[in-house]
Amino acid sequence: MEGIEIMVEKSDVLIVGAGTAGTYISWLLAKKGFSVILIEKDKREEVGKRLDVIHFETDRVQMAGIPPFKAGTPDCIEIRNVSTVITPDFKTEIKVRALQTIVRLTPFLNKTYKILESDGIKLVFSTEFKEIIFEDNKIVGLFAESGGNRQEYRARLIIDASGKPAVIRTSLPEDYGIETFELGPNDVMYVLLEYIKWKYPDKPHPATDTGYNWWLLWFGPSYDPEGAILGVGQPGSFENARNAREDFLKRANLPPYEIIKKEQGSTPYRRPPYSLVMDGFLCIGDAAAVTYPFSGHGVTATWVLCMIASDVIEKALKTKEYISREHLWEINVNYFRDQGAKFAGLFTQLSGVLNFNEKEWNYFLKKGLIYKTSEGDDIPEPNKEYEEEMSLSEILKFLFKIIGGLVRRKLSLKHMKRLLQANALAGKIKKHYEIYPENPKNFGKWVEKAELLWTQKKIAVKKLSLVKIEYH
Ligand SMILES: Cc1cc2nc3c(=O)[nH]c(=O)nc-3n(C[C@H](O)[C@H](O)[C@H](O)COP(=O)(O)OP(=O)(O)OC[C@H]3O[C@@H](n4cnc5c(N)ncnc54)[C@H](O)[C@@H]3O)c2cc1C
Repeated sequence: MEGIEIMVEKSDVLIVGAGTAGTYISWLLAKKGFSVILIEKDKREEVGKRLDVIHFETDRVQMAGIPPFKAGTPDCIEIRNVSTVITPDFKTEIKVRALQTIVRLTPFLNKTYKILESDGIKLVFSTEFKEIIFEDNKIVGLFAESGGNRQEYRARLIIDASGKPAVIRTSLPEDYGIETFELGPNDVMYVLLEYIKWKYPDKPHPATDTGYNWWLLWFGPSYDPEGAILGVGQPGSFENARNAREDFLKRANLPPYEIIKKEQGSTPYRRPPYSLVMDGFLCIGDAAAVTYPFSGHGVTATWVLCMIASDVIEKALKTKEYISREHLWEINVNYFRDQGAKFAGLFTQLSGVLNFNEKEWNYFLKKGLIYKTSEGDDIPEPNKEYEEEMSLSEILKFLFKIIGGLVRRKLSLKHMKRLLQANALAGKIKKHYEIYPENPKNFGKWVEKAELLWTQKKIAVKKLSLVKIEYH
């Protein structure tokens, strides 16, 4: 712009988006001594307001090393160990150990902002990313806008932590070397939440933290001990989620309740881009579609990626060179060979499980084939590392139960075949991610094979009374 001088802000790292992903990586990098600017389009007090209560995996919170939560403080409702799962015939209750910290998002973010500021991070609210700045076809900065004013930022590394819109990744040129896909209706789970209050809290009602997995519906803990959060998530549309909830309500015979408030949103349900890095660029969080395949939770899933990334970025920034994709490549390798491979496998396995009909779902849950069940009151340990490692005796037991189900016509051969196919493909996909190329030169070949594998993943279909839902 002629005649108008734009001030340039400079930092080692510039992060777009002050949600749970952007704040966490800023904190890690600032602690390593780098200068960090974090820009956010919303006003400070409004970030995260779209969601009130949110669950963090307690073991992952500890791994992330953030200041511990304390139940009863403004940002933490409680820390829970046990959840209940109910079979679709409402007859069997299964206790599962689920280590969940129940957090209030806005107070948590506001507490975090204070910590970031005390660690020297510059937080800039009400400032929206607008345009990437390239020099020699490489990212060197960006323009953002605040109250109608344009501001130029220059940094050695730009991190896209802007959530589902992935504002930077999706505006990169197609040939920059990173996938620019946007999340379509089949790439997300549409989630509807109703904060409810039981009219007669003493009357029997679903216990806090009870899941009805056949409908992908749950009663989560709320800030009101006489209430709950009735949540449901389905891909395709909010209509699908609403119909699934209707289907459940027709059958559930719930005692009366009042709806206090409603929230809705969507969470990524697809594979992340094959590469998370490019010259001068990294994407994390929902912008990179990193979520636990079985729950759609994204917060602590991405913190694992942030921990890996911050160590690699530290080495890269110390070189004083331009931060190229080669400098950042180890992020891909370390992430995709571990959590990325597990998630890719689980995501594929889901396409086998989601095909089951209601009768089969009952059988699977009751026989402990989805959640491990155990003897007596002993609640099984959660699968902390998100992968199913079975001993030979467990495999034999599993097969025996499957054969029993087939013989007694509790399971159909067609759906069992689909499960076994999905499991076999999941194994291949996981293994492929475990050999993610160490050298970016071999990336093209690796992607070709990955594409071939992903195209074999079949769409699962669930038929409810009001709706047929496709899981892509
Ligand atoms: C209803 C619902 C319930 C959920 N429950 C859970 C749960 O219990 N546990 C869990 O782990 N996950 C849950 N999730 C998923 C979780 O919310 C996300 O995975 C997580 O918030 C992603 O964090 P993020 O920082 O990547 O993105 P976001 O939280 O979306 O943050 C991105 C930030 O970037 C900002 N931004 C966007 N565009 C720009 C721009 N142009 N310029 C500047 N800033 C910009 C946004 O304003 C936003 O503040 C839930 C999701 C939904 C919809």
